[in-house]
Amino acid sequence: MTGPAAPFAASRRTVTDRQPIALISVQGDPTATNVQGGAIGQSVYVRQVGEALAKLGWQVDIFTRKAEADGAAIVEHGPHCRTVHLPAGPPTQLLEAEVFPHLPEFIQALQAFQTKQGSHYPLIHTNGWLSAWSGLQLRQQSNVQLVHTYHTLGCIEYQACPQKPAIAPTRHQIEQQILQQAHRVVATSPQEQEALRRLMATDGQIEIIPCGADLEHFRSLPKAEARATLGLADHTQVVLYVGRFAPHKGVETLIRAFAQCYERQGSVGSASPSENRLRLLLVGSGQAIGGASGSEHQADDPERERLAALVHQLGVAHVTQFVGQVSYDRLPVYYTAADVCVIPSHYEPFGLVAIEAMACGTPVVASDVGGLKFTVMPGETGLLVPSQDVSAFARGIERVLADADWANQLKQQAAHRVRQTFSWASVAGQLSDLYRRLLAQSITQEQLWVDGPAVPWPCQPSTPTVEPLSPFSGVQAS
Ligand code: UDP
Repeated sequence: MTGPAAPFAASRRTVTDRQPIALISVQGDPTATNVQGGAIGQSVYVRQVGEALAKLGWQVDIFTRKAEADGAAIVEHGPHCRTVHLPAGPPTQLLEAEVFPHLPEFIQALQAFQTKQGSHYPLIHTNGWLSAWSGLQLRQQSNVQLVHTYHTLGCIEYQACPQKPAIAPTRHQIEQQILQQAHRVVATSPQEQEALRRLMATDGQIEIIPCGADLEHFRSLPKAEARATLGLADHTQVVLYVGRFAPHKGVETLIRAFAQCYERQGSVGSASPSENRLRLLLVGSGQAIGGASGSEHQADDPERERLAALVHQLGVAHVTQFVGQVSYDRLPVYYTAADVCVIPSHYEPFGLVAIEAMACGTPVVASDVGGLKFTVMPGETGLLVPSQDVSAFARGIERVLADADWANQLKQQAAHRVRQTFSWASVAGQLSDLYRRLLAQSITQEQLWVDGPAVPWPCQPSTPTVEPLSPFSGVQAS
């Protein structure tokens, strides 16, 4: 693990003797307690990576959009890592498509912040497609090294939606351009690298650096205690989902699989439907709703309403609990209390939930897709089954629940694998090496950066009220 290289000492004297770098996460605020808009994993990544990079000697500024009117402008994570909230559009939670026309304001605010601080970021690491657009614009303004992490891909995410949003083609174009024009794209698994090559572009430089889990936070706790905290009886068999309720996360597959398990458990052995021991906990969006012990609240997003209707239709509403969004601090209790954590995604570039569950010693049954093939070792730390295959998920869940000895073996191996391979300190060490190499190249080659083709101005003719900002002379208005 290495920190900033000595040759840059001269350029970092104005404010600090550390090398400043910027992480941009327009739509995944690392300080938010209630993240909306599809960027939960991204906000975890940016916070963990930022803090770990600061420990390695970098001066880390994380830039995100101000989404709370009365939130602090700057939040210090530690002496050398902070999050800066920049104004861009109304200070409320917005969908990604709603944020898009406000990106010029975001860039202008970031540049004003740099000027005020008297600092310059020679390296910018962008996260998510909105940040990619911002990074491409900033790269046209000055000699910055641009690193990008996707976190998700529009063409995969939208596949599961009944109707593609109007922003889809623009997002796709940006996601292609960032691969072609960034100095490095960080893929979080070999499977993500393969998907980027297949779906985005054959040119552009990719380096594989995985995600991590906070190993102090996610660790094996006494299961009985976790159960007691959540009011779950010892004999209950708990199936857990943690994540967003976006269609491509495949929660419907899990609910249907769970209903199959429930039906079979009721019709065999001693359990009658009324004394069935299975419970499904769905941790994710919004407030608590329904189920065995939750209070009834109004669901707050259409996908969740659809899923709530499905559990009723399948007759498992009384054994299903929509837990709502759980704070990061409290998640280990849920992972530990569960007998199996199910990740039924249609696709995951990495899938943080898999390694968090495994770090807590909870076996995982996951779709045989993307980064889940990289993190979950079938038969050793859990099971991989074909994505969207309801019966295969049901059989996988039953296999783990049926054999306590095997589940215990999976538990040990799962925790061991995460400890060996996926720590944020190791991720930051690898990123640090990459940044150092890129910065060294930019100095020795003087003008390494070249202007790529201009990225189309985000404000298309359909939103003509927003004028292009004058500082960006290289950007074409359409
Ligand atoms: N998460 C959370 N509270 C919740 C649901 C999820 O803190 O109620 C966190 C979870 O711990 C994980 C992240 O959100 O770190 C989800 O990341 P993942 O890569 O699994 O999915 P993404 O949302 O990035 O597609």
